Amino acid sequence: MPSRASYRDIPLYSPSKVKCSVDLSDNTNLFGMPPAAERVLRETVATQVSRYPVGYAPDLKQAVARYTGVEPSRVTTGCGSDDVIDSTLRAFLEPGEVIAFPDPTFVMMSYFAKVNGLRYAPVPLRPDFDIDVDGLLATGAKLIYVCSPNNPTGTVASRAALERLVDNAPGIVLLDEAYAEFARESHLDLAARPNVLVTRTLSKAFGLAGLRVGYAVGNPTLVAEVEKARGPYKVTGLSERMAAAALTEDLPWMKARAEESLAIRARLVSELEQLGLKTLPTEANFVMVPLPGAPAVAERMRQRDVNVRAFQGLKGIGDALRIGCGPWTMMEAALGALREALR
Ligand code: PMP
Repeated sequence: MPSRASYRDIPLYSPSKVKCSVDLSDNTNLFGMPPAAERVLRETVATQVSRYPVGYAPDLKQAVARYTGVEPSRVTTGCGSDDVIDSTLRAFLEPGEVIAFPDPTFVMMSYFAKVNGLRYAPVPLRPDFDIDVDGLLATGAKLIYVCSPNNPTGTVASRAALERLVDNAPGIVLLDEAYAEFARESHLDLAARPNVLVTRTLSKAFGLAGLRVGYAVGNPTLVAEVEKARGPYKVTGLSERMAAAALTEDLPWMKARAEESLAIRARLVSELEQLGLKTLPTEANFVMVPLPGAPAVAERMRQRDVNVRAFQGLKGIGDALRIGCGPWTMMEAALGALREALR
């Protein structure tokens, strides 16, 4: 049976995942699980796992709505924000249509475009790392994706640029705020506009990446379309209960861990400077370090049991390492491995 033609050349997502004792490659919260979520996990009984969850995860919607200060009708959820983004593309674009996004940005965007049969238009970030609003608008794309703070650069889009984009976009602006809890400013209020969806995740600041819970906030008519594309049971019952508990009871824990990550990030940046390395201005829980030959450096670090993410030939940046911020002992191990790898 021949496969769908447009699927033949799609590779599986495979960042270099060698098992290392120190893994700073995926920007997750490395401070463990939030306590209320852990309590729910321990209290879960077999019957709760053998039954279907309630369709469209209403309890999780309620919890997200309270956390973000909107009505539940403005919330949709999914199996990670990956799934929410994928469902959004499916909901609004027909195969063959175009999605635009800055370059570099979240590497999964070209993958999501391909699996949905879309064409995509990467638009280079400006030299100051802000988004190129005119360039994005010039693509004429019905859906424009922007990630701020941006993965992998950590840099942010300016408020003025985002507003001009939202005011002038011919279709939907999908704003990915996976790292919002670490940033100085959130743009969640833009989700009140008729053409904006803002996605967030429990995978980063909340330390629940394994649960696979993400969400979007936006106009109820947009949200309703994403719900159709997502189907009823994308979030498991256990994930829904744990995530709802975290969003309700674990906010002080989450905020304290996010603060700690930022303090560690500042310390990391100054140690990197002492090694003669420059870093990009970041508002996320990771730091991008432009470094010629970064993939080989990362490989040598992996041989020293530390995993960081390497990028090759990024537009406007070149080769670079992306280093996540965990407890300082992990950063010491990473810095030690980096020093040896640079020798
Ligand atoms: N958006 C961005 C910018 C990310 O970095 C990630 C995680 N790598 C995601 C979305 C997806 O996260 P999740 O599916 O775990 O919510």
